Amino acid sequence: METVSIKDKNFRLSITAEEIEKAVSEVAQRINHDLKDTNPLFICVLNGAFMFAADLMKHVDLPCEISFVKLASYEGTSSTGKIKEMIGLKEDITGRTVVVVEDIVDTGFTMQNILDSLQKKGAKSIHVCTFLQKPEALQCDICVDYVAMKIPNEFIVGYGLDYDGYGRNLKAIYTLI
Ligand code: 5GP
Ligand code: MG
Repeated sequence: METVSIKDKNFRLSITAEEIEKAVSEVAQRINHDLKDTNPLFICVLNGAFMFAADLMKHVDLPCEISFVKLASYEGTSSTGKIKEMIGLKEDITGRTVVVVEDIVDTGFTMQNILDSLQKKGAKSIHVCTFLQKPEALQCDICVDYVAMKIPNEFIVGYGLDYDGYGRNLKAIYTLI
């Protein structure tokens, strides 16, 4: 069993780089088919989605733009306790087809915040493309249009996702043992 240690924790290999490559290419083909002639703006949510977005965009062959945002969290009064505000979007998205590119949809609260914020900015249609989803953990009523891979409700690292800042550079996905 291939394992990695990051700080105080051990992880086992659960999705290989080859499996990731195949799934990312497949999801890109679906986007190429569905969003033809829409001149989409892809919005990559940093930091976690950087590696997925880079690989995804190599397979997207539509005329399109890509931009990058970050989420600033602060304590709020929502049910989740934390509100995440989207920062860094310079483009005017009024009337545009937007594709949010995320690393993982877990409970879905983060994505719901992003979608609310983009809706307020007047996007014509908003699609969600996530590398991973944990379907069992979803607690929000959101539509996740494009999912490269579904995983069980376990903590993972690699391919952009971190444990305490480390492990983002791993080219495969590793699950906490
Ligand atoms: P949500 O708001 O959907 O519960 O959580 C989304 C965020 O939680 C992701 O963007 C990611 O930063 C983090 N997250 C959720 N599950 C995992 C996981 O298994 N591993 C890592 N590294 N981050 C996760
Ligand atoms: Mg993320």
